[in-house]
Amino acid sequence: MQLVFATHNKNKLKEVQKLLPASITLLSLDDIGCTQDIPETESTLEGNALLKARYIKNNYGLNCFADDTGLEIQALNNAPGVYSARYAGPSCHASDNINKVLKQLENKEHRKARFKTVIALLTDTEEKLFTGICEGTITTKIIGKDGFGYDPIFKPDGKSKTFAELTTEEKNSISHRGKAFKQLIEHLSTISR
Ligand code: IMP
Repeated sequence: MQLVFATHNKNKLKEVQKLLPASITLLSLDDIGCTQDIPETESTLEGNALLKARYIKNNYGLNCFADDTGLEIQALNNAPGVYSARYAGPSCHASDNINKVLKQLENKEHRKARFKTVIALLTDTEEKLFTGICEGTITTKIIGKDGFGYDPIFKPDGKSKTFAELTTEEKNSISHRGKAFKQLIEHLSTISR
């Protein structure tokens, strides 16, 4: 079975391919000749993941899955959410997003937040969503050097370190993305038997 992962990121693709049964061949957007960034115009992570997966199914007629992730901060009414990538502006860096969040939470005690990943799977026979959540808190300053995005200010519950201080393996074992992909992979293993 061939399956498109709606991403341009070769590393993400490789990582997921390794976890899948050999009967599934994963293709990237570049592999199918889709060079543009598919617009993410919905107001929810579910909506955006489905939008991307449907775009591929409708335009290329291929089975596929797409993911979307956001950071939801309780004291900010669950912002940045779907706007996580560009919270501080259209062409901002991760550090701009982090500084904006730290400023907005300045002197606030309530710092609970969560990362949420939604994966939409679209095949000839089904449309299915998988959700992974990682609960935690926003730190008061940047801690740690590894990872990406908001990792240096997110401390997952049960750990004394931020995501940016954990190894990739440690992060994947508890992360929103790790949990969502685990469900997808279990499901694909069942249907491709
Ligand atoms: P995407 O949907 O995976 O592209 O994620 C959207 C944005 O959410 C990214 O650009 C990051 O700012 C943020 N983000 C997603 N996953 C993580 C993570 O594991 N750690 C930190 N930030 C993340």
